[in-house]
Amino acid sequence: MSEDVIETDVLIVGCGLSGLTIADRFAREKDMSVLIVEKRNHIGGNVYDEIDENGILVSRYGAHLFHTDSERVWAYVNRFAEWVRWEHKVLAHADGRLVPVPVNITTINALCGTSLRSEDEARAWLDEHQELPVEIRNSEDMALSRVGRRLYERLFRPYTVKQWGKEPAGLDPSVLARIPVRCSFDDRYFSDRYQALPRHGYTEFCRSMLDHPKIRVLLDTDFFEVRDRIRAGLVFYTGPIDRYFGGLPPLEYRSLRFETIRLRNVPFFQPNSVINYPSPDVPYTRIVEYKHFLHQESPHTTIVRETSTDEGEPFYPVPNPENQALYARYKALADREIGVYFAGRLAGYKYYNMDQAILAALELCDRLL
Ligand code: UDP
Repeated sequence: MSEDVIETDVLIVGCGLSGLTIADRFAREKDMSVLIVEKRNHIGGNVYDEIDENGILVSRYGAHLFHTDSERVWAYVNRFAEWVRWEHKVLAHADGRLVPVPVNITTINALCGTSLRSEDEARAWLDEHQELPVEIRNSEDMALSRVGRRLYERLFRPYTVKQWGKEPAGLDPSVLARIPVRCSFDDRYFSDRYQALPRHGYTEFCRSMLDHPKIRVLLDTDFFEVRDRIRAGLVFYTGPIDRYFGGLPPLEYRSLRFETIRLRNVPFFQPNSVINYPSPDVPYTRIVEYKHFLHQESPHTTIVRETSTDEGEPFYPVPNPENQALYARYKALADREIGVYFAGRLAGYKYYNMDQAILAALELCDRLL
């Protein structure tokens, strides 16, 4: 970036889904000039994907499965891409076999030695095994109240310890509330009305959101290094909120490490796109084989092992009461900042799904536009 001062109506820090949604609204509805500054060398934030040398569309920051019950968000995303229905399924490796997650009748039968055949039988089994505390205070209570102790110990507790570096008892109930329990044979990961993938990938979808003469993107640009050279009427910050404000202890975020393995002339590595590994004996949490998504064709395959870590780029806020209390102190500072708005997973310290990030950004724009 040159040393000249840049003027823009709207400055957006971060080119992920939240920033892109805000850029779209201000440019397309208000014809205002929008400048997005992005630290990384690509658009799209963590939904960024690209065709790899095996000819397979691979996400650089982990698989992203779009799902929503929001008519508004569904109509909105359809303005920028063609979407193909895709009902995501996940298998977990437990007790030497592959079982469906979320827990359904097949999972219970495989891991608990039952032979349940109907919803009524499954409900009766759950009634007998669920541990219902007076109050659900954390993710352990949440899981025990849904699936009982045996399935909790097999599928949820060890996986969560690897994923978060904490016992489920040290996490808000919301974390394990993400995974439902099903008294049926339904083996879909999500229950939402709309479940789909963009036919040509998320990067193309993001490119289409940016395709407007009033939107400009500066990649490889750290906002904190250039902020003095930008004059903006409005600023939207979507980076980690603790990087914006000094003077308070840092917030806790969880990161992921990705190990990509390209297998030449191997048609498939595993029977499903995602296989979770709850076992503490396996270092990674899951393996994603990307060619399963939208049934991509290639003589080769690409798999990515995900390991959770404390170091590295922030991916997940860590929801528990201590972190929420610290975030509240940051939020109080954010609320006092004039002309600057904070949006997205990292600035709002919220474990948003993609649709929730988009909806929150749309609603922020509704208030301002
Ligand atoms: N989880 C688990 N076992 C599984 C899948 C998920 O214990 O096989 C827990 C784990 O704590 C995880 C949380 O459920 O962080 C939410 O899972 P989700 O798939 O929504 O995580 P994400 O895809 O956002 O990483």
